[in-house]
Amino acid sequence: MSGFDADVIVVGAGFAGLSAAEALVSAGSEVLVLEARNRVGGRVASDRFADGVRFDTGGQFICDEMHEVMALVHRLGFPVFDTPMDGAFQVQPAGAGEARYNFAESGRIRTRANRIDPRDPSIAGLTVEAWLARQSDPSGAKVGYQAMVEGLWCRSISEIPLWYVIDNDRRTTSNGNELQYSVDGTMHAVAEALAALLGSRVRLGMPVARIVRGNGSVAVTTGNDEVFKARQVIVAVPPVMASRIGHEPALPAPLAEALGAWRSGTVIKALVEYERPFWRDAGWSGMVMWRDVLGLFACDVSSGHASALVVFAGGPLAVDWSGKGEDFIRSEMLRRLAAAFDSAAETPVDFQMRDWVGDRWSGGGYSDVITDLSACDAETLIRAGAPPVHFASSELSSSFPAYVEGAIVAGREAAARVLAFLQER
Ligand SMILES: Cc1cc2nc3c(=O)[nH]c(=O)nc-3n(C[C@H](O)[C@H](O)[C@H](O)COP(=O)(O)OP(=O)(O)OC[C@H]3O[C@@H](n4cnc5c(N)ncnc54)[C@H](O)[C@@H]3O)c2cc1C
Repeated sequence: MSGFDADVIVVGAGFAGLSAAEALVSAGSEVLVLEARNRVGGRVASDRFADGVRFDTGGQFICDEMHEVMALVHRLGFPVFDTPMDGAFQVQPAGAGEARYNFAESGRIRTRANRIDPRDPSIAGLTVEAWLARQSDPSGAKVGYQAMVEGLWCRSISEIPLWYVIDNDRRTTSNGNELQYSVDGTMHAVAEALAALLGSRVRLGMPVARIVRGNGSVAVTTGNDEVFKARQVIVAVPPVMASRIGHEPALPAPLAEALGAWRSGTVIKALVEYERPFWRDAGWSGMVMWRDVLGLFACDVSSGHASALVVFAGGPLAVDWSGKGEDFIRSEMLRRLAAAFDSAAETPVDFQMRDWVGDRWSGGGYSDVITDLSACDAETLIRAGAPPVHFASSELSSSFPAYVEGAIVAGREAAARVLAFLQER
C-alpha cells in the first residue's frame, strides 16, 4: 500500500459508513473511516435519563421487514423489545371536528398516490401540495395525508415533489409496521458495537473538508489540515452535507447539481419518563396524533427499564417550535400529553429532548429530501458518483431510504461498487 493510508477512505461513521467499512474489511480491503463528530452513529444517537437509563435520541424503531438491521442487531447480540401498542389510539384534540383529520381516508390517498408511476409526465413538476389540491377527497382526508407526509418527510408539502414521495414510499415495504421494535440498550449502542469491530480504523473528530481526485488515487483533507490518501473514497454523509465538501477538480456539473437538489429534514424528538405507564389505566395505547398541529406524534416506548413516551415534532412544526426554544417545547408537549391522557402527564420523572433542526453534521432529520421539482435523476447521478469518489447514505438506498435499514443497505451497495473498482486494478 505504498503511499496510501488505506485502500478506501469512508467519510462518516453513521450506519451507512460503518456498514460500508465492515463490508470492505470483510472483503480484505484496508479501510479508514473519518468521522467529524466525537462519536459514531450520526443520526442515531443516545442520551440518558437522570436515573441512568439510556434511550435513543435519533433512529430507534425497526421491524421484521427490515432484514439487514434485524440481522445486524441479532448478530451483535442485542435483544429487541416490542413497542407497546395495546389500547386505544387517539387523535387530539378529541371531538374537535373529526372531518378535519381522517386517517382511513388519508391512507387511501397514500395508496392512490403510490400507484402513480413516479415518472408519469402528468405529475412532472407537481409538489405534493399542488397534486393534493387537484384531488376531490374530503378536506379531512387531505389534511391527514399532509400530516403524514410532513411528519415522515419532515418538510412542507409545498416543497416536496410528488414523484419523490411516491418513489421513496414505494421503497418502504413494511406496510406501516415501522414502529414494531426498539433495541434493548439503544440503537446507538449497536452503532458503537459495529464501530468496535472496525477498531482503530475509525477516527473521530475528523471533519472532511476537501477531496482531491488524482490519477488512481484520492487525497482527503480534514478541517484540521490532515491529509489521507487512498485509492477510492466513499462519502457516507447525507446529500446536503456531501454538497458542502470541496472537490478538486470540481465535481461534474450534473453531479454537483444533483447534490444541491436536497434540503435537510427538520425534526425534534423528546423522551418523557414517568413513574409508571399511567395512560394504560384508561385503556390508551399511548399513541397520539394531533389534528390542530401537523407533524406531532407520540407513542409508548416503555421497556423493562423505564416507562416512557416518545414525542416527535416533524416538518414545519419542528422549525416553528425549534425557534421558540426548549422550555416552550417541553411545556407544549407536556400540556398536550396531559390533555390526551391525564394531568399526571405534566409531572414526568424526566424530560429529555434533542432538537435536530439545523444539526451541525446531519442538517436535520429524519432524512434529506429532494426539493428540486425537476431533479428526477439526482439519486441515480449521486449513486454513480465520480469515481474514485462514491456516495452512500440512507437517502440513496434501494430499500427503506431514510431509515437505519436504508443506511446499512446503501453502505453495502456503495462498498460493492468500490470493490468492483478495486478489482479492476
Ligand atoms: C430524530 C430521528 C429519529 C429517527 N427515527 C428513526 C427510526 O425510528 N427508525 C429508523 O430506521 N430510522 C430513523 N431515523 C433515520 C435514521 O436515523 C437515518 O436514516 C440513518 O441513521 C442515516 O444513516 P446515514 O449513515 O445514512 O447518515 P448519518 O447517520 O447522518 O451519518 C453520516 C455521518 O457522517 C458524519 N459527517 C457529516 N459530514 C461529515 C464530514 N464532512 N466529514 C466527516 N464526517 C461527516 C456525520 O457526523 C455522521 O456521523 C431517525 C432519524 C432522526 C434524526
